[in-house]
Amino acid sequence: MPRPISATIDAAALAHNLGVARAHAPHAKAFAVIKANAYGHGLLRAAAALRGADGFAVIEFDAAVRLRDAGYTQRIVLLEGFFDAREAAEGAARHLSAVVHTDDQLALLDAVAAGARLDVLLKVNSGMNRLGYAPGAVHGAWAKLQEHPGVGKLTLMTHFADADGARGVAWQMAIFERAVAGIAAPRCLANSAATLRYPETHGDWIRPGIMLYGASPFAERSAAQLGLLPAMTLASEIIGVCDLKPGDTVGYGGTFRAVRPMRIGIVACGYGDGYPRHAPSGTPVRVGDRLTATVGRVSMDTLCADITDMPQAGIGTPVVLWGEGNPVDMVAQAAGTVSYELLCALAARVPVIEQQH
Ligand SMILES: *Cc1c(COP(=O)(O)O)cnc(C)c1O
Repeated sequence: MPRPISATIDAAALAHNLGVARAHAPHAKAFAVIKANAYGHGLLRAAAALRGADGFAVIEFDAAVRLRDAGYTQRIVLLEGFFDAREAAEGAARHLSAVVHTDDQLALLDAVAAGARLDVLLKVNSGMNRLGYAPGAVHGAWAKLQEHPGVGKLTLMTHFADADGARGVAWQMAIFERAVAGIAAPRCLANSAATLRYPETHGDWIRPGIMLYGASPFAERSAAQLGLLPAMTLASEIIGVCDLKPGDTVGYGGTFRAVRPMRIGIVACGYGDGYPRHAPSGTPVRVGDRLTATVGRVSMDTLCADITDMPQAGIGTPVVLWGEGNPVDMVAQAAGTVSYELLCALAARVPVIEQQH
């Protein structure tokens, strides 16, 4: 038998979660955000499950090319635009859409062949202070894009810094509106959090990412409460059992010390599989059909689960590291990170199973 770890990707859950996004923004079109190998779920696998989307959004030029070559005819947008003239020329030939966020990038559009046209999303920096034109530079960039012979349809875009948090979006919406005043164009503003929480951001195109994978963008609302289904279940098995006496420690550094007799299950999953090494003792882990806690430091190939009160658990008992019955958001929270990081980090050595319904 092979090493028992696997990641199961549930295509029906992906499609369901896209439906949840659409239900929240019934008048907008949806770019399914499938950057970073579809948040670890597999680019083409996720695209197939999300083929009902009006478009796809990626960061990586080669991902956009793979989608086109696989036959997807929807809009495919590059969220960071082009990185060189070759990408601009080939991107136009493949009818990609590209974000433009600086004049340097705008200059790359000169590489678009005569007669070809590329759809552009002009990115406005409305307060995220990462990528995008400063509000005062938006009209100038807009004019250049409108005059550019290689540019086709134009869309206005911005990105929210705290749609999931206390600051919300109103302050950025105000900056955005002032920056684009007088420009009549479709808008693409909302990530998952804004899609779920702020209808006034929906505009013409939404850009849901994390919610498609069945994780919540909010700290205080669970994916289940939002009606989302987990798309990835990282599962393994117990491959060894240790009985601990009071005073015994577990794993590298002995960071966990038993204060009572304990039984721990050694699980075939570690940071070499993408499980976060910084997950402390107490991180939720499902063993059989019950939630318990990890103990000790995560190693490259194993971690340990407390099975003291689970006499039926032993070698071969199934374990869910995150996913079905053990929300990735709870694991991420215990590990001091977000679901995005855990999902993206799924290691290449973990076999992927496509769940059929
Ligand atoms: C990743 C990304 C998204 C999706 O964000 P989620 O929080 O995963 O919904 C949307 N827009 C841009 C520009 C992004 O980079």
